[in-house]
Amino acid sequence: MNTYQQCIDGKLICGVDKVINVINPASELPIADIRESSLEQVNLAVSNALNVFSYWKKTSNEERIHTLRKIADVIAENKTELAELITKEQGKPLSLAMLEVDASIDWVNYTASLSLLPKVIEDSAERVVEQHYRPLGVVASITPWNWPVMIAIWHIIPAIKAGNTVVIKPSNYTPLSTLFLVELINRVIPPGVINSVVGEAVVGDVLSRHADISKIVFTGSTATGQKIMENASINLKRLTLELGGNDAAFVLADADVESLAPRIFQAAFLNMGQTCAAIKRLYVHESIYDTMCEKLCDIAKASKVGDGFDSEVTFGPVQNLAQLAIVEELVADAICQGGKVLCGGGRPAGSGFFYPPTLISGLSDGVRLVDEEQFGPVLPIIKFSDPHEAIAEANKNSNGLGSSVWSADTDYASSLVNRIEAGTTWINNHAEVLPNCPFGGCKMSGFGVEFGLDGLKEYTYTHIVNKAKA
Ligand code: NAD
Repeated sequence: MNTYQQCIDGKLICGVDKVINVINPASELPIADIRESSLEQVNLAVSNALNVFSYWKKTSNEERIHTLRKIADVIAENKTELAELITKEQGKPLSLAMLEVDASIDWVNYTASLSLLPKVIEDSAERVVEQHYRPLGVVASITPWNWPVMIAIWHIIPAIKAGNTVVIKPSNYTPLSTLFLVELINRVIPPGVINSVVGEAVVGDVLSRHADISKIVFTGSTATGQKIMENASINLKRLTLELGGNDAAFVLADADVESLAPRIFQAAFLNMGQTCAAIKRLYVHESIYDTMCEKLCDIAKASKVGDGFDSEVTFGPVQNLAQLAIVEELVADAICQGGKVLCGGGRPAGSGFFYPPTLISGLSDGVRLVDEEQFGPVLPIIKFSDPHEAIAEANKNSNGLGSSVWSADTDYASSLVNRIEAGTTWINNHAEVLPNCPFGGCKMSGFGVEFGLDGLKEYTYTHIVNKAKA
């Protein structure tokens, strides 16, 4: 049986510090007890990664492409085991976990095809100026619990493609699938290029202060991102911060409710609402408000809530009790503020961190469920009459990750886009991230982007070579 250990310099090593109980959120039963890495082990992982960096940074583009293809293959060969582990510790239905692994493989293959070749900026009688992209060194990756394999891939694959080495620390809620992923990858790459450590905030804190780490790629809450940013100042670490979101979607009067409601529901409740760029505030024009509420309710009621291993289940549990408590608190507050629960709104009897898809109408900005990130299966639906006013209200929120406009008139929808403060605005879609398209937030949702060539550049610094001709 796999004991899920950290991987340092290609070797699986048991942690030695406090025990972390990994719980199956569908049963509330423990799946594994693993131990946190000691300070010495974290230091060992970083120093190994630093040693290996001097070799890895010199590898050719072809060699790295070849390595990434092998990584994609080893993940594909172990897809079922990896997906089952995701469902066991994260809770999502197995079909969604399979999609997570498939998307991860696609991401590896796409990133393999990206190259940061030197660019000639000027070739004149006086000089030739070239821009080169150099790797930074050791990258620390700190990941959350919602998409434990995919987000790990988003961090580590561009980092090594650009010539860096990595130490990754997964969330203590969902460490197993990431540890297994790193173990698999280590079967096909040179030891020490990708290392893993285990632990809670204290280990993340050590990594983000570490003098031999050159960059941190972090996906998680805004509060943690702020702490990491403070720590990173010690040696001016580069940062990519993918933080919290509170995505607003604006459904205009001419939107076809019948055809759009299923897609809006999917974009709001993807992964039980535990997705950074899920719709978290739904603004609907007053002329179609009631119909949209009704249609979304029908879809919510048709969801089958339960253990993600049951093939009929479409809606798994919330991943952890602390997140469930936030959802319950925000729903209770919304009811106190006059919100009307249209469907869902309470935990079913029995074990498991289950909470059905919940829709709440009659709310406006200023209520916690609208203003704060719920990161779970509850959606406030807000009525508006003027889209400009609705956008202005929504912009008052400190987050700026995703957003969307839904309308039959895509030209009019496009004309609203420059009023919206967000890293991405979808039109008649939401929460679609693509390996070739930069993704990131503005305002308190963070900075920097992932994916595409822009994402790859974040793992490099610019080295200008200016050659005089005269
Ligand atoms: P979190 O901030 O609690 O934890 C994220 C990671 O940071 C975990 O590995 C955790 O152990 C570590 N950590 C905690 N305290 C730390 C510290 N002081 N120093 C260093 N590391 C520390 O977030 P979470 O609850 O795991 O994830 C949910 C949040 O993540 C939500 O706000 C969600 O919006 C956000 N998120 C954002 C994106 C995005 O792309 N913008 C994607 C997924 C999740």
